Amino acid sequence: MKNFFLILLCIPIFSIGQNENTKNQSKNKENKFSFHSDGPYIFFEKNKLVEKGIINGEVYLKDLDLNVYDSTYNIQRSNYRNIDNIAALSDIHGQYDLLIELLTNNKIINNDLNWDFGEGHLVIVGDIFDRGSKVNEVLWLIYKLEIQARKMGGRVHFLLGNHDYMVLQRDLRYINSRYRISSYLLGIPYDELYSNKTILGRWIRSKSTIIKINDIIFTHGGVSNEFLTNYGTDLKKINDIMREKIDISADKMKDDEYDLYYGIKSLIWYRDYFKEYGENLTNSDVTKILKQLNSKHIVVGHSSNEEIIGLYNNKIFGVDSSIKLGKYGELLFVISDRFYRGKLDGQLSEISK
Ligand code: ZN
Repeated sequence: MKNFFLILLCIPIFSIGQNENTKNQSKNKENKFSFHSDGPYIFFEKNKLVEKGIINGEVYLKDLDLNVYDSTYNIQRSNYRNIDNIAALSDIHGQYDLLIELLTNNKIINNDLNWDFGEGHLVIVGDIFDRGSKVNEVLWLIYKLEIQARKMGGRVHFLLGNHDYMVLQRDLRYINSRYRISSYLLGIPYDELYSNKTILGRWIRSKSTIIKINDIIFTHGGVSNEFLTNYGTDLKKINDIMREKIDISADKMKDDEYDLYYGIKSLIWYRDYFKEYGENLTNSDVTKILKQLNSKHIVVGHSSNEEIIGLYNNKIFGVDSSIKLGKYGELLFVISDRFYRGKLDGQLSEISK
C-alpha cells in the first residue's frame, strides 16, 4: 500500500492546482480528469458482480448479476495436435489500435472485431500488460475472442510473459500513466484491478506459460537447458507450478522459486537464442533443447526485433516484432507446417531457412 501512494506522488499532474483553495478542489479534480475514461473492471462481491469504471473523470459503479460473466475458468490443455492453422504474436504491451489493425488485415478478426480464424489457433506469446495505454481494452478483446474461437472449434492461447507476472505480483514500475490516474480515481491499487476477485484476474490466473501445438513449443522468453534440467519436460506440471505461485510476491519466494520465475534462465525472462540480447547458443545447444522437448521448433517473444525472424534454420522463431512501439507489427503464421510472416498490411511472406 505504501508503494501505491508513493507511485501516486510521482504523477506530475497531481501537482497542478496546488495553490487553489480547498473549496474548489473537488470541482477541479473533476475538471482536471475530464479527459480520462477507463474500464470496465468487474469485481466479485458476495452475491453479485460490480462493474467499476471511469467516464470523463467520474467513477461509476454498476451492479451486475453473477451470471453475466462466466466465472469458472477451466485450465486449458498444455498440448495440442493436428492443428492446421496457427498464428502467433507477442509483446502487445497495450497497443490496442495496432493490434486491431494487424488482426483485421490478417483476417484473424473481422471488421466488427469478431473471431474470423475458424478452427485456427491464435497464440499470444506473453506481455499484454505494461508500457502502452490500452491494456484493459486488449485483455477484454482477447477474453471475447477466446470464447468466440472455442465456439468455432478454434482456440486463443494467452500465455503469460514476464510483464504479466510482474503486474500480478505488484511490480508496477512499467504501467502507463493512464493507469496511475485510473488507480487514483478508483481508489484501488492497479494490481487489485486484476486480483483474484475480478473477472479478468481469475481468467488470467487460469492461463499457461508454455504450450505445445503439433511439434512447436510456445513460451514468452524461451526454454533453457538449465530450466529443463531443474524442472523437466512435463508441460502440464510446469504450468501448474507457475499458476500456483502467481500470487506469491518475489520477496516471499525461496531462492529456487525465484529462479523459476525471475531467473535469466526462466521461461519468461530467457534471451539466449538472440545474440544481441543473450549468450547466443550454438546450433547443437538448440537441437539438444528441442530433443528433450520432443519438438522441432520453439516460438518466443520477449526479445524485440523489427520483424518476425527465424533463427537456427527456423528451429527458433522470434515473434516480438516491436508492437510495443505502436508503429508496426507482424504475426507468425504456421500453415501446413510452413512458416510465414503476416505483415501489418496482411501480406504473407514465407520465412526461408
Ligand atoms: Zn517480456
